[in-house]
Amino acid sequence: MKALEERIRKDGIIREGNVLKVDSFINHQMDIRLFEEMAKEWKRLFAGKPINKVLTIEASGIGIAAIVAREFDTPVVFAKKSKSINLDDDNYTTKIQSFTHGRVYDVIVSRKFLGPEDHVLIIDDFLANGCALMGLLELVEAAGATVEGIGIAIEKGFQQGGALIRAKGIQLESLAIIESMDESGKIVFRE
Ligand code: 5GP
Repeated sequence: MKALEERIRKDGIIREGNVLKVDSFINHQMDIRLFEEMAKEWKRLFAGKPINKVLTIEASGIGIAAIVAREFDTPVVFAKKSKSINLDDDNYTTKIQSFTHGRVYDVIVSRKFLGPEDHVLIIDDFLANGCALMGLLELVEAAGATVEGIGIAIEKGFQQGGALIRAKGIQLESLAIIESMDESGKIVFRE
């Protein structure tokens, strides 16, 4: 999506460790007009799919997913991170390794909000190694729900996540795919 690529070029900051900071329009301050354009693009890309729920993970996916859910006219559920959980029957749980912090989180979704009747669109801000998405896929599977697709704002195409997800045969639509980036600020997008 051209508008997102241009915004990354203009306002993205590349940090060591292959981290792209997009704090001025996604991860701290949020550009809702841009999110609306992104949501419309996913609506077009997933047209015809019987999506009745949007799923994301806290915290940074929530803003985008909320705007997407309005576009699809569905509820949005966010998986909650917690450092220690009581294993109970009320929640689906999994573990996710955080790309940005290195820590492993327990992640939960209440059984009340995800079940076999759900056709889910997963939304997140970044795709790097795919840990966050693999965890969300596990939760959807545990719920007996169906994954209709995954929408990612920024995929770092030089990391393994995209290939892992596509190998599963899931429709993955990343609106900007970074082929390479370096700390001098040079970014190459996949055509
Ligand atoms: P993965 O689980 O695919 O390795 O990483 C995805 C998660 O890590 C995303 O939910 C995002 O919050 C965070 N993340 C991964 N790479 C970046 C990055 O370059 N910049 C930012 N801001 N977040 C990232």
